[in-house]
Amino acid sequence: MRFVIAPPLISSIAVAGSTERFPVRRIICVGRNYEAHAREMGRDPTREAPFFFTKPADTVVENKATVPYPPDTKNFHHEIELVVAIGRDGFNIALARACDYIYGYSVGIDLTRRDLQLQAREQGRPWDWGKAFDQSAPIAPIEPVSRIGHPKKGRIWLSINGAIRQDADIADLIWSVPEIVTIASQSIRLKAGDIIMTGTPAGVGAMTPGDHVEGGIDGIGTIEITIGEPEKT
Ligand code: MN
Repeated sequence: MRFVIAPPLISSIAVAGSTERFPVRRIICVGRNYEAHAREMGRDPTREAPFFFTKPADTVVENKATVPYPPDTKNFHHEIELVVAIGRDGFNIALARACDYIYGYSVGIDLTRRDLQLQAREQGRPWDWGKAFDQSAPIAPIEPVSRIGHPKKGRIWLSINGAIRQDADIADLIWSVPEIVTIASQSIRLKAGDIIMTGTPAGVGAMTPGDHVEGGIDGIGTIEITIGEPEKT
């Protein structure tokens, strides 16, 4: 096939213990999936159906990168999250089979222009400009299920310049990973290469240029980024 302009490169994420990479098709994010975070966002943490938003595949950022402070925000937030990498296509996936569709797990940061997100929320507008901006999805190397199985618990944490800001356990997810896979697959056909960011625990907050941000999930991995100065061109 020939194209009228150069086709975009395939976005990808490193795979732990391998020189091969995981190709990213799209990034699906779960909103409010830990009770304490739902409360800090001013919402009732009852177990209402999960809701989703997305980021483009090319928002992924490599571990240890410098992420420039993005435009149009004065409240640039971190959200540390368990990441699920989908390895097979599936529609209407049975709960008992959900794990069969998972290639691996990682840890990532759902970077958020919180002022734009909250303004959109209040005005009933889409969240995209608060969530789906350039370089908004740093993700650590993926640990394949063949190496770590399907983790059900483990400390999830994030620090800024060494001070802990988020500290919880993935066992506290309101909707479990298999439930999220099943529910998402009832609404869209999940495809190999899809990434699911499963929601953040409490303690989200603002970052500024020069901040060194580290996070991790016990048994899965760690992610670190530095916040850089805004890009000028
Ligand atoms: Mn999030």
